[in-house]
Amino acid sequence: MVGRPNVGKSTLVNRIIGRRQAVVEDKPGVTRDRVPYDAQWNGRRFTVVDTGGWEPDAKDRAAAIAAQAEIAVQTADVVIFVVDTMVGATDVDEKAVKMLRRSHKPVILVANKADNQAIEHEAVALWSLGLGEPFPISALHGRGSGDLLDAILAAVPPAPPIIEGGPRGPRRVALVGRPNVGKSSLLNRVAREERAVVDSVAGTTVDPVDSLVEMDGEVWQFVDTAGLRKRVSHASGTEYYASLRTAGAVEAAEVAVVLLDAAEVISEQDQRVLTSVVEAGRALVIAFNKWDLVDDDRRNYLEKEVERELKRIPWAIRVNISAKTGRAVDKLAPAIRRALASWEKRILTGALNQWLTALTQATPHPVRGGRAPRIMFATQAGVSPPRFVLFTTAPLDAGYQRFVERKLREEFGFEGSPIEVSVRPRK
Ligand code: GDP
Ligand code: GDP
Repeated sequence: MVGRPNVGKSTLVNRIIGRRQAVVEDKPGVTRDRVPYDAQWNGRRFTVVDTGGWEPDAKDRAAAIAAQAEIAVQTADVVIFVVDTMVGATDVDEKAVKMLRRSHKPVILVANKADNQAIEHEAVALWSLGLGEPFPISALHGRGSGDLLDAILAAVPPAPPIIEGGPRGPRRVALVGRPNVGKSSLLNRVAREERAVVDSVAGTTVDPVDSLVEMDGEVWQFVDTAGLRKRVSHASGTEYYASLRTAGAVEAAEVAVVLLDAAEVISEQDQRVLTSVVEAGRALVIAFNKWDLVDDDRRNYLEKEVERELKRIPWAIRVNISAKTGRAVDKLAPAIRRALASWEKRILTGALNQWLTALTQATPHPVRGGRAPRIMFATQAGVSPPRFVLFTTAPLDAGYQRFVERKLREEFGFEGSPIEVSVRPRK
């Protein structure tokens, strides 16, 4: 949202987010730099970034505000350029249009303060700015704002629709691990102790190769388990077939429970199973099975082994179970739930950027060739798994990117879920 001071940008932001949150001040320049707000319209989520106002050749504080507005333009998918219909196009507006042209961003021209039909006719004069048809609206009274939002959303790249509170089938779980770690034993254990749900759940279709099992008061869909329950996996139990099953099950699932044999060393095959889960972007619970065979010596050694072998996935949730004795099998469902919650977690853009500003102020990117790349803005682009995009002035050092990723986890959690952080440097 850009435009010169006092044209009604904050009022429009308030109108879009449906809250009295952005500061509205009658004095020019007394506003915020560049504040992101989360908004929704017709089931789509997007981020509106309010700016303090753009002026050419500004000095001091006004120059800083104008620079922030330009950053907002560079990091946006669509620019909403606001002018005051009652005043008409000014020199400053025309200079702003030049700046917007250089950005090559799609621009929607908003003719604000068109409070009534008479003023609305004045908006026609704004064609002269060369930005196409002006959208006459009254941010103050809400006139025309619905049409404007439709136009904005038509211009932003498509994002998946929000499904909230709708009917959803059982959560899909993949039970994977190399042959003989105890997958069929575990499935038989939970199906026996709890209740195997044979019929399909209302409103869902369940693949015949899947098993519906109730654990901890909830029905779960264990995907691609037909082979496991009949124990035919051993007949065709070469590593090749095992890895095919793993890939298929992980792909079909939302969360994977990877079984490792607690009594044996973590093998390369175990690592490949873990990698397939992380690369598929699924939530992850590691179950150390056969815990009944673990004595004190092994337990001490296992700690070190885990530290060494699983250091790339310190965020995985771990449970120590025994399919044979039933030990701690009841810990499985809560662990899976926690991993799924992280997998679907959404961080509000405002909170994300507040945290990022503090982080980059405390620990800026190291200087390279006299300059230090800066992170201008961050947004969560998606969930399942959480994906973040950092808009930067230049590519980041791999080390610094990892640092930001690590701090992001420290701050916001994501236990049990992979996250993706990508960097979009300014062109
Ligand atoms: P900004 O500096 O561009 O963010 O502008 P503000 O949102 O702070 O608005 C500046 C002034 O214009 C405030 O007094 C608002 O109440 C007023 N204003 C904003 N939108 C409208 C509108 O649609 N009609 C009228 N009449 N006044 C408006
Ligand atoms: P899968 O190939 O992963 O399905 O493994 P199975 O469930 O067929 O188990 C392989 C072997 O490990 C069988 O002999 C099981 O009885 C044994 N086993 C499975 N879970 C446990 C456990 O928790 N403790 C012990 N001691 N043995 C187990």
